[in-house]
Amino acid sequence: MTTSSATPGLALRLALRGDLLDFTGAPEWGATASPVVRFRPDHWLMIEGGRIVGAQAEAPDASWPRHDHSGQLILPGFIDTHVHSPQLDVIASYGTELLDWLNTYTFPAEQRYADVAEAEAGAARFLDALFAHGTTSAVVFPTVHKASTEALFAAAQARGMRLITGKVLMDRHAPDGLRDTVAQAELDCTDLIGRWHGNGRLAFAVTVRFAPTSSPEQLAMAGALCQAHPGLYMQTHVAENRDEVRWVKELFPEARSYLDVYARAGLLGTRSVLAHGIWLDDDDRAALRESGAQIAHSPSSNLFLGSGLFDWRAAEAAGAAVSVATDVGGGTSLCQLRSLQDAYKIQALRGERLTAWKALHAATRGAAEALSLGDEIGSLEPGRMADVCVWDWAAGPVAQRRLSLARDLHEKVFAWMTLGDERNLAATYVAGLRAPV
Ligand SMILES: [Zn+2]
Repeated sequence: MTTSSATPGLALRLALRGDLLDFTGAPEWGATASPVVRFRPDHWLMIEGGRIVGAQAEAPDASWPRHDHSGQLILPGFIDTHVHSPQLDVIASYGTELLDWLNTYTFPAEQRYADVAEAEAGAARFLDALFAHGTTSAVVFPTVHKASTEALFAAAQARGMRLITGKVLMDRHAPDGLRDTVAQAELDCTDLIGRWHGNGRLAFAVTVRFAPTSSPEQLAMAGALCQAHPGLYMQTHVAENRDEVRWVKELFPEARSYLDVYARAGLLGTRSVLAHGIWLDDDDRAALRESGAQIAHSPSSNLFLGSGLFDWRAAEAAGAAVSVATDVGGGTSLCQLRSLQDAYKIQALRGERLTAWKALHAATRGAAEALSLGDEIGSLEPGRMADVCVWDWAAGPVAQRRLSLARDLHEKVFAWMTLGDERNLAATYVAGLRAPV
């Protein structure tokens, strides 16, 4: 097992040729021309020791090993801020909304992860699938079982990737085999934190499934863990579905709102990642800003489960950070391009227009910064880890024709984002090493 000083198999030197696209800041709403878009066509991205060391127009000298992706697009690897590893098994399941979807499909699938061999095979399958869909970093829910968290950490470390995860906490309103206790959960979390948090590129997240499946005592324990170990992440769900919101109101009558349940337990901070946040009010959004917590907007899942249309502009206007996530298996693809396509359509239904810049930033640099990881991932700046993906601009004659007619960079990138998916993916590099995809 490796330690924080030695991420496995770092590439010594590599030069990647292609059309480099990343962001130097946050794009404005509606601006198709933006000074924070950095597009460097036909450049070389220079990588040493797993990190980006520069970019240049001229070919490097002969001492540099090179991969020539000329005519292809090179972006920072996507960051998926909310996804469930065991739910690959229930992706594309018919006919339910959130609460019956959990009971009908999700919980039975998660029960299988009590088995170590099942959890290990599932973790490997899941992480390889992320790479094959253009995602190099993720914030992940495994299951309530300690073994499933172990398996995910170990599989991520073997792949040298940035991963944030933690044992799911749920001590009520869940079937047999999926409930823990406050005391056992605290022991398991403390042990996992000691061995995995800050180990290489891994970080632990206190992982509350959602308010209904944790007792007030367990929420208090989770909050105490966050206070006792600065630097931990916290992930959960909030205000996804109207029936869920009503249920939380019944369970926690003393709380002002669903989000307030977490605030009262000490679970909101700069490293808190809250999935969905569709049914929030202005006071909730102000609480997000004040705490520094972010919303992991999950557009594909919100459409598939009929949860609602997220008000991205209101969240951002209130000062809350927003990243984009797949939420597989509520979402129907691990490919963040498909998330962004659905995000555009949700904003269109709200009367807003999401530019390609805004969308791609939220899945790269914006997500990295919201996770306090802007120095490590999310852009092609020197010093960042070389987690990058190479994409074909077009897959198939329809996209080729459409892109050939694009009159400016935004039109071209928007068409790529809208017509593209994992079939456009040409290569994935993690810490400068090409991943088998
Ligand atoms: Zn979720």
